[in-house]
Amino acid sequence: MKKSIRPEFVEFIPEVVQDGILYISIPYATATHNCPCGCGERVVTPIKPTDWTLTWNGEAVSLNPSIGNWSVPCQSHYWIVENRIVWAKKWTAAKINAGREFDRQAKIRYYNRSWRGKGGEV
Ligand SMILES: [Zn+2]
Repeated sequence: MKKSIRPEFVEFIPEVVQDGILYISIPYATATHNCPCGCGERVVTPIKPTDWTLTWNGEAVSLNPSIGNWSVPCQSHYWIVENRIVWAKKWTAAKINAGREFDRQAKIRYYNRSWRGKGGEV
C-alpha cells in the first residue's frame, strides 16, 4: 500500500501507467493512476463538477471527493491529499449502493441546471 503519489501533467495519458504517478491531463479534464494498493488496476478520475475536483498548489495535488474502487476486487478506498494517499475505511455494499444513487441524483440535478442555464424551459 503506497503512501504517496506524484503528479505529472501530460496532454495524453500514456499507455503504460506507472505506479505512484498521478497523470493529469488538463486539456482532456481527466486524471489516471494505478490503484495504490498494488493490485495494478487503472483508476480513471474525470475532472468535472459532477465527478472529481483537482486542486494543485504548485507542488502537490489533491482530489476530492475520495476514490472508491468498488468495481475492482481490492475495493480500495482512499483520499489523495497533497500527494499523500490517505487510506480510508472500506464501504459496505449498502453504502456503495447509496453512494452510487447519490451520485446519480447529483448528476441529474447538475445537468438539469445546465440545461435551464442555457435559457431553455424544461
Ligand atoms: Zn487495488
